[in-house]
Amino acid sequence: MQAKTDILETPVRYFKGVGPKRCEHLLRLGIKTASDLLYYLPSRYEDRSNFTAIKDLKTGEKQTIRGEVLAMSTRLTKRGMPVFEMAVGDKTGRIPAVWFNQPFLTKFFKVGQEIILYGKVERFGALQINQPEYEIIKEDEEASLHIGRIVPIYPLTSQITQRYLRGLVYMAIAKYGHYLADRLPTYIRARHKLADIRFAAYNIHFPSSFANLDKAYKRIVFEEFFMLQLAFAIKRRNIKAESGISHRLEGALIKSFTANLPFELTKGQKDAMNDIGRDMASARPMNRLLEGDVGSGKTAVAAYALVLTVENGLQGAIMAPTEVLARQHYLVLSKLLMPLGINVALLARGIDESLKAQALNEISQGKVNIVVGTHAVIQEGVEFKALGLAVIDEQHKFGVEQRAVLRRKGKNPHVLVMTATPIPRTLALTVYGDLDVSIIRELPKGRRPIVTYWVDEDKRQKVYDFIKDEAAGGRQAYIVCPLIDGSASIEGSVSKGAATKSATEMHEKLSREVFRDYKVGLIHGRMGPKEKAKVMKEFRDGGINILIATVVIEVGIDVPNASVMVIENAEKFGLAQLHQLRGRIGRGDCKSYCILLADPRNENAKKRLMAIEDTVDGFEIAEEDLALRGPGEFFGASQHGLPEIRFGNIVKDFSIMEEARKAAFDVVNRDPMIRDEHHKYLRDTIVSRFKGRLELIRVG
Ligand code: ADP
Ligand code: MG
Repeated sequence: MQAKTDILETPVRYFKGVGPKRCEHLLRLGIKTASDLLYYLPSRYEDRSNFTAIKDLKTGEKQTIRGEVLAMSTRLTKRGMPVFEMAVGDKTGRIPAVWFNQPFLTKFFKVGQEIILYGKVERFGALQINQPEYEIIKEDEEASLHIGRIVPIYPLTSQITQRYLRGLVYMAIAKYGHYLADRLPTYIRARHKLADIRFAAYNIHFPSSFANLDKAYKRIVFEEFFMLQLAFAIKRRNIKAESGISHRLEGALIKSFTANLPFELTKGQKDAMNDIGRDMASARPMNRLLEGDVGSGKTAVAAYALVLTVENGLQGAIMAPTEVLARQHYLVLSKLLMPLGINVALLARGIDESLKAQALNEISQGKVNIVVGTHAVIQEGVEFKALGLAVIDEQHKFGVEQRAVLRRKGKNPHVLVMTATPIPRTLALTVYGDLDVSIIRELPKGRRPIVTYWVDEDKRQKVYDFIKDEAAGGRQAYIVCPLIDGSASIEGSVSKGAATKSATEMHEKLSREVFRDYKVGLIHGRMGPKEKAKVMKEFRDGGINILIATVVIEVGIDVPNASVMVIENAEKFGLAQLHQLRGRIGRGDCKSYCILLADPRNENAKKRLMAIEDTVDGFEIAEEDLALRGPGEFFGASQHGLPEIRFGNIVKDFSIMEEARKAAFDVVNRDPMIRDEHHKYLRDTIVSRFKGRLELIRVG
């Protein structure tokens, strides 16, 4: 068995026609071995299989003809460039074929040969076929690679030609293809009607028909997705195999919590609480994602889970990505839970050392029931007496490792992660494949919808007047800028451009001129934690009318009295980000307005602004964003842990992903330790592919 795989690792330098220079060029494409060649997939295909009769050739299109070389000649252009011309004929007519600057072709062809040409037909007086690709038909050659068939086109750099690579790939298949071992068990292939791997390898490069190409593609993508989903299934099994802390769901504390909530829960919130209750009551650790648009009320759901764990004599922790947000959670949770006799503590930067030491002490003794904080929560020195539940808010702002550290602060605690980034269905299986998911779809009743306008620069004065009107009515406004200051400091993932607005400059200008008579505040990521907290408190208390900000206010901030948000250079933000920002308003009972000041340079940017203007549904926006930007960009630089996908397209091939997921979870169900003889290859693949990369992957 071992030998079989080794032979596929034969270096390409042993291939005919591969010298040191070519080796280097191939390396740049990531091709080192025979196996690399086999898995170097075409980016597209050209159908050169249908021959067009010469009399039916159309101007301006690429077409394939088959005929006989009738005559050849070479002439020079005025500038001295050699032009090789050939007359080709079939039963229906004749046409000249023309090549520039390839004088060696004179020796390559002979009059009377049968040839195939593929190229663009153009009219210069008469029709001619320009710079066509060519193939001489030799009777003994089993199949022509470059023409007269569906031809693979590879993603290449300029040093390597399609023709050359095609030849190499063909050699690799002819010589090594039959050593490819099928990693998918036969029963899975049979059940999902998947082609054999050798068939797939051949047909993905040199398909004998489009139907066979589809089969080959599905087979290769299925295998890729299947292995990913198998990793998820194993990870999930590992978590579920741990014993968790089974919680009682009934008790005085949880009763008075629900009775004292200042609002009626939405259906989505109730459903999510039920899901969470079921998870926490079970003897397995919860590993759940709570997904809900901004303002959907995830905090109350988290509070429910936290109270459950406190009721059961354990501690809860909630970790947020920014200090501002952590402090806000602290405020909200204290107000909600302190009256019930629950002790809430805050851990964040900028807290006095002595207070912090005291908090740490109380946490370790179990006197603190709930810890709210930033990354400070997962630092060394924070020791819980008994952590029963870890909540991670805006979880996409944290890395996998940080989540794992929090989990390890307890003994198999329940874990709830929350996000306001609606993940399109097509991505969820790839990104959150190992989590159970609850989704809150609706916003609480009585919310006034946010009205969004996209305006350009000449409306600026009007926008300012509008802010003044709102301020006169006692409302507050945000003005969000992409930059902190005029220098290169970029907040978040926004790119700087010529007229990009900066928060400090805006603040200076507006507070001195336009909004002289108002209280104008400033907040950005480079301010100290205490300073930020002070500004936010002032804004919340109504001491600031207009807050100039960067995207530090993107997540979680909740000031119901703010009714206007102006976003400067809105074209520079992603859709999801704009939606997040906009979620800061419309939180009270006043009608709210989001004004996008933008000067979009291209169609795509315009489309994005129109999408955000048209819809307030985060899921719709996410789908749109995904369609416009693709999965990689969709997540930007954030640490979503989008796994590397080489062959398939997680959006377009969603149905294959679903099928592969079912199959993978089925395997783990029947054979949890992946020990069966017929799963041997699966096991080997998973171990070598994911070892150390996915948290908690353990096989056997
Ligand atoms: P997010 O899901 O964005 O974290 P929050 O938990 O911050 O949302 O809630 C947003 C606002 O909605 C808060 O002011 C909260 O008190 C309020 N809220 C939450 N649930 C409800 C509800 N069922 N009815 C009315 N208001 C609610
Ligand atoms: Mg929130």
